[in-house]
Formats: sequence, C-alpha cells, structure tokens
Amino acid sequence: MSKVTRQSLKSASISVRGIVQGVGFRPFVYGLAVKHNLKGWVYNTSEDVRIEVEGEAEAVEQFELELEAKAPPLAHIESVTIEHHPPLGYKNFEIRQSQAQEGKYQLISPDVATCQACLGELLNPEDRRYRYPFTNCTNCGPRFTIIEDMPYDRPKTTMRSFQMCPQCQKEYDNPLDRRFHAQPNACPKCGPRVELVDNQGNLVTPIESGSNPIAAASQLLKEGKIVAIKGLGGFLLACDATDDTVVKTLRQRKKRSSKPFAIMVATVDEAKRHCYVSPEEENLFTSPQSPIVLVRWREDSSVSREVAPNLRFLGVMLPYTPLHHILLRDTGLPLVMTSGNLSEEPIARDNDEALRRLSGIADYFLIHNRDIYSRYDDSIAIVERGTSQLIRRARSYAPYPIRLSFEAKQVIGCGAEEKNTFCLTKDNYAFLSQHIGDMENMETLEHFDSTISLYKRLFHIEPEIIAHDLHPDYLATKYARELGESGMKLIPVQHHHAHIASCLADNGLESAVIGVAFDGTGMGADGNIWGGEFLVADCRNFRRAGHLEYLPLPGGAAAIKRPYRTAIGYILTLLGENALDHDLPVMREADDMEIEVIKRQIERKINSPLTSSVGRLFDTISALLGIRGEIDYEGQAAVELEMAALSSVIARPVPSEARELDEAIRSNNESYPYHIVEDEGIRIVRLRDLLSAVIDDLHQGISKGMISVKFHNTVARMINEMCHLIADETPMVSGVALSGGVFQNRLLLQKTVSLLESSGFQVFTHRQVPCNDGGISLGQAVIANFAV
Ligand SMILES: [Zn+2]
Ligand SMILES: [Zn+2]
Repeated sequence: MSKVTRQSLKSASISVRGIVQGVGFRPFVYGLAVKHNLKGWVYNTSEDVRIEVEGEAEAVEQFELELEAKAPPLAHIESVTIEHHPPLGYKNFEIRQSQAQEGKYQLISPDVATCQACLGELLNPEDRRYRYPFTNCTNCGPRFTIIEDMPYDRPKTTMRSFQMCPQCQKEYDNPLDRRFHAQPNACPKCGPRVELVDNQGNLVTPIESGSNPIAAASQLLKEGKIVAIKGLGGFLLACDATDDTVVKTLRQRKKRSSKPFAIMVATVDEAKRHCYVSPEEENLFTSPQSPIVLVRWREDSSVSREVAPNLRFLGVMLPYTPLHHILLRDTGLPLVMTSGNLSEEPIARDNDEALRRLSGIADYFLIHNRDIYSRYDDSIAIVERGTSQLIRRARSYAPYPIRLSFEAKQVIGCGAEEKNTFCLTKDNYAFLSQHIGDMENMETLEHFDSTISLYKRLFHIEPEIIAHDLHPDYLATKYARELGESGMKLIPVQHHHAHIASCLADNGLESAVIGVAFDGTGMGADGNIWGGEFLVADCRNFRRAGHLEYLPLPGGAAAIKRPYRTAIGYILTLLGENALDHDLPVMREADDMEIEVIKRQIERKINSPLTSSVGRLFDTISALLGIRGEIDYEGQAAVELEMAALSSVIARPVPSEARELDEAIRSNNESYPYHIVEDEGIRIVRLRDLLSAVIDDLHQGISKGMISVKFHNTVARMINEMCHLIADETPMVSGVALSGGVFQNRLLLQKTVSLLESSGFQVFTHRQVPCNDGGISLGQAVIANFAV
C-alpha cells in the first residue's frame, strides 16, 4: 500500500437524488466506502442522500464511479452532484441519523415483489422465517402501501405498532445486513400475523392443517371455496381457476358476468403450461414490479374458459408477496385473483371494511394485522413488438413519476370518468396516481380525494392550476370546478388533445405531431362526441385535421351498452332503411318496435348525439357480425371482434411460439373500401362503402373472423392514408403519436405501426402510461403547464 500523503488525499461532498431511500442505498454506500478505505459519513434527508467521503484521490474517484454504476437494483438515481474540497480528517465511515427538512420531498419507491433471497428463506425449513408471510428486506416488500409520511422511517409507516425483537433489531441496525433499515422488517416472533375467518368474522382453525391459516385457506381453495386474501394494496378474491363451477359462482356473487379475471400461478413454468410466453413477457413476469401480463392463452390450458369468456388472452401474474408464494405452493393450482370489490367499487382495504363489503362474495377471509395505508390495484401490462406497455398503472409503478422535459408548475390534472387517475406536476416530474377506478360512486370519489391529499403531502405539492375534462358531468370535472370556486385557476382540456399530450410526455416530446386519438367517447370542442380524431397537436395547442364522419348514437348511453342499436343506427343513416335486411345477425337482437324507436330517434334527432368515435365503429361491426350485440363491460364488443380475427388467422395445429402467431396475423392484408372527403379544411372519413362491403361479405358467407381481419386492416390503412394527407399539408410535422383506448387492440396496433413505419413515419406509442383514459390526467396537466 502506498504511503498516503496530504497531497494525494481528496474529499467529496455528494448529493444523490432519485429513489435512494428504502432500497438499501446507505448500506451500499457504507460497503463501498469501506471497500475503498474511505472515511466520512452518509445520511438521508427529505430530498436526497448526502455523502461525505475522503481518502486517496484515486479511491475517491473510483467511489464516485461505482456509486452510480453499482447501485442496488431498486435504486433509481435521478442525479448525482459532487463538490470537492480539502479533507477534514474523519476517522471512520458512519451512517448518521436521517434529517427531515421543511418543504423538501423525495421520490418514493413503489412496492416491490419478493426478492430471490427472501424467497429462499421463506422456503427453507431451517430458516427462522420459514413460511413467514411478511418476510422482506431492503430489496423487496411493501413500500408505498404502508407509508403515511416522509422521511421513510418505521414510525411513519403502518409497521409502527410492531416492536422488533432483538434478532430483527440486530439485522435492522447492522449496515452490512440485507435488512439494515428495512422499515417493514419482521419475523414470526415480532411481526404481523395472518388469521383465517369465515364470512361472519369468526376465527377458523381447521384441525387437519394444524393451526396454520394459510395451509387451511389452501385446503378450502382446493375444495372449491372463494377466499378473500389481504394483499399489499387491498383484498383480492381467490378461487380455483380450473373449476368452472366456482368461477361461475364468483361471477354471480361479484356481479361481473363476463369481464375477464386475472389468475396467479406459482412459477413461470406454470405460466407456460397455460400460455405462450415470449422472453420479454417472461422478464416482465419476474420483474420487481411483477404486474399482471396479458399473454396468449393456450388451447390446451386447464384454466377454465369462464375465467376470461370468449378471449384468447389471459391476465397472468406470479406471486409478489410471501403470502402468495406460500398459498400458491400449498394449493398447487392456478388461482383466480381478482380485486376484492363489488363490480366497480374501489378495492377493499381494511379487515372490517372487507368483511362488511365482501361477506356476500367470499366464503372465508385470510386477513392480517399489518394495515394498508394506500389502496392499490394490480398493474396490468402487455408486451407488443418487443416492448412493454401498461394498460393499468398501479401497484409497483405508481407513485414513481414520469420525467418531464420541462420545468413544471404545480398543476393537477383531474383525469376522466373511467379508469380515472390524477396527475400532479412539480419540478421535472409528473406524479401520475395509481389507477383510482371508474368515478361513478361515492366510494371511488372518496378514494380519489384521499389519494390526492396523500400525494400532495408526500411530494409537497400545492397545485395552483387545475386542468379538467370538457365533460361537465364527469365527477372529476365537478371536483375541479369546486376547487375553481375557491379561486384556483381552471384550465379545461379537450379529451383527445389530452390523449396526444400524454403520449408526447410519455415519449419526452413537446413538439407537434400528427396525433391519432381513437377511443370510445370524449367530449369534443364542438359539443359532439369525438373519438376518431386526427389532430395536429403539441403540448400547447391542437388543430382538428380530420375525423371519422359523424353518425348518430340512438339512445346515447343505451347505444353504448347495446351496440346493436349503434349498428342499426349506422345502417339506417349510411345505407337507408332498405339495407335493414332481416337476414343480418344484428337484426335478431332488436324487435320491430325497438327498430321503430331507433328510426324515430334518428329522424327527429331525439337523444341521438352525433359521434365520430372509432370505438362505436368497432361496436357496429361486432354487432353486425353477430359477435356481440350487448355488452357487460366497456370495450367487450371490440375485444371480441379482435378475438374473432385472431382465431381466423391462427393456423392449426396451434403453433408452439407466440412469434409464429404474430407472423400468421401479419400475412393477411385484404381490406374494405372507404373514402375521404374534405370539408372546410377538415378531412372526413366516410364509412358508407365500408359498411356496405362488410354486409356484402356477410351475404357471401365469408367468415366473421375473416371479415374482422379485413376490418382491422381497413382501419390501419385509413390511419396511414389520413396521416399522409395531413403530413402533405403540414410539412414540419413527420411524427405520428397513437393514443386512446382503441390502441389496446393489439392486432390494430401491430398493423397500424407497421404500415406507418413502412411509409416512413416515426411512430410514438405509449410506454409508461396507459393509452386509455388512465393516462389522460398526465396530458391534462402537461397542457395546463403550457397554457399559462
Ligand atoms: Zn427481499
Ligand atoms: Zn423479529
């Protein structure tokens, strides 16, 4: 070792920002300092981790390099600032007390799925945490769901009521231990416990399984019972996914007749027995986020078709808490795991609340005494064209912020009615909330309100500007207007502009693109219902460059629930009464009287709002083909139309890999005619020829699946052609952003992106933020930032 002289000594003050607390960062820094023989200290503040190191110049430089390069897996470093100064002569390296500062905030880690080291202990009969369902460490476990305030220390979490035993305390205090300052640290001696109760709240201790509540719950699941299980962000309802009868019972009790359920399986190998899993999907399954991934369902899977009726995709997740790991291994079955709620209410969180709200659904409750502070649903993701996209952003993703390309004001975007989220901006961040739900009941509104308060408190945001949808009846709009009355500045934002701005922010862009916003319904600037929009838009303004032609929705909301009404309305308007051929499958849905009513509504323009919605066009084709005339959940008609297309192109025998399925789908390019006209500078897509060609094919006996394929191809071609026309007249714009719930249709997304890319467009799709209304609050907040 070289002799250390005063000259070769160097000292550095370092500030690290990002997700650097609760993720094992300080022990990592400690280890790194010791390794390089450096002296000084490290501590947490409310906004960063502060480090002071001194030692040999070369060692300090190496420390600075490795600080970023070798950071723990869950750390997410946003910035590192380093200042050098003369050494102060520290004698050792120490971890100092955290310091709270007024008005400062820092990023918070979302909850993280059980890590391999903890899983190893959980499954090891020799370990003191064998089968202990609350095992966690600095690399995994609950975070956001238990945090009440910052800085992140045990007294500010729902773990405060559990006093650590000497062994746990020793782990907690040892900088070299995996559990050093792991705030939820616990063991069977000192931590939370599970209990099994019946739906009256009476304790159940079946003798066969000893007194182990998890083993007992597993036994009940195997016997065909429904068990409500308290998880990370709320209760999930579980049952045997291979048992038709119990899945049907769950549907009846939950009042959810056909909306798909997700399942949980013990391992990736088990997932592969039921689904086609690509390497990218496998990565997502085993990621620290462990979301529900929508994967292609195998024909030979033993999972009941009742789990996701009429669908070829299945939502699958792996266990993400120790409790799930034990339960799945004990039952040896794929389990349905669906949010513990009645249809669209928020997920149940507390034990009493769950017993009150879910006793009509679940036979038993596996509960525990670690409180959940923040309600969270499971996140849902897909992998398309090799990259993952979120359909629902919740557990393990929120509240990690979206990084903005500009310095933001303190703004709140209140979101839309369905799949609501809100979004708060500050500095370079957009804090998009977890999925709140459909804003149609008081419970959800309360969840919305209390989550806003939590985010404001944790991230020290006091919004001065409120962005909201144009729709006056959305509960989120009403909420915004109430705040407006107290003097805050209100910025109304058009729904589809918000979709495109959200896609821009998701891709770190601000400049103008051709925005294709396709969804179900959104209030337009002209008072009509938009949803098939071609905008030239940036984060500030938009121009409506084109749209699908306006057609009536006979009965408004009734037509959305009953797509056959929309279909009949479209036929009447585009092709006339003579086209209402009684051989068409859609005509079997309505009786003569209802058809008369529809006619009158359209002729006299009574309760028949006009819409340019692509969602309604998908509904129309689905109903016309006799696939789905009446829906149980939003998007069902369109999704089943997509499934019909997939079924028709998939070769038999069923290929062994997902990739082969994709190739089969890409190979068909037939489409239907339509035409584009210009009206006062706006291009309109006329649909008469399309509708008439579909009806011709039906009469010719062409299969529904093949018609659906041709229809998907047509919509993709339509997008491509419109983008060309718009690009020709706006030469400065060459990028295309795709947003809106219709792009959850993977077949359409694939076809559209490949057409656009092969004609030279740069295509932007969503990545971190859902393309559906769950992403809209981000767009609203971004636009409001530019508007003032
Ligand atoms: Zn762990
Ligand atoms: Zn303990």
